[in-house]
Amino acid sequence: AATASFPRSTLLSSTTADKTEATSETYEFTSDVGRVMDLIINSLYSDRDIFLRELVSNAADACDKKRFLSITDDAAAKEEPNIRIKANADDNTLIIEDAGVGMTKDELINNLGKIAQSGTRAFVQALGEGTADVNLIGQFGVGFYSAYLVADKVTVITKSMQDPNKAYQWESEADSSYSIKEVSPDEIEASSGTKLILHLKEDASTYLDATKIQELLQRYSEFIEFPISVWKEKT
Ligand code: ADP
Ligand code: MG
Repeated sequence: AATASFPRSTLLSSTTADKTEATSETYEFTSDVGRVMDLIINSLYSDRDIFLRELVSNAADACDKKRFLSITDDAAAKEEPNIRIKANADDNTLIIEDAGVGMTKDELINNLGKIAQSGTRAFVQALGEGTADVNLIGQFGVGFYSAYLVADKVTVITKSMQDPNKAYQWESEADSSYSIKEVSPDEIEASSGTKLILHLKEDASTYLDATKIQELLQRYSEFIEFPISVWKEKT
């Protein structure tokens, strides 16, 4: 369904005429995203460990795309894409950052605000009937939303290889809408890439534990072909 997305409202985040302050635009998710999110959150709860595999596989896909595109791009070619995972117990966040291909603003809207694949209907139906296996989630093109198994808010900061002078921040609390605003390109250290900030649910603090994350990576993400670094716990 190629429905166009227009900002529902444009909120000035500053009341002054300060041009350096980015405006935040609010968009509605398409209805299939809403259904998928509801189903994921309500049906897959007992298997919520799988969020990490889904997000790491997206990060690896983005690294793969960058490596492929870098063949023609000298600056990016010097940089071997990687994946970094870090928790911050002070603000209860888990950060998954990749030096992959990144997303433009349009890609944010098209990739995270709607569901492209026709498999969505099958997924929704299978979950509704209770016949879907949680392990299949990635096959339906809806893996990103598994972030909401463990997070009540997800912030995505991204800088595209196509336009490395611009970075955007996408954010949603899994209600019916998400927001997008422009942020400083310095928010992403690599020449391009994506940083996911998972604001963990109160009962998901187990994912602040580096040992737990390492264990999940060993179990689910053994064959990722890019280096994955996990922060070291202070001793
Ligand atoms: P799938 O990976 O099967 O396409 P997902 O729901 O996991 O479905 O992700 C949807 C889309 O969002 C991806 O196809 C990709 O275009 C985009 N995306 C998700 N995570 C990232 C990332 N870390 N970097 C770049 N693009 C991403
Ligand atoms: Mg995926």
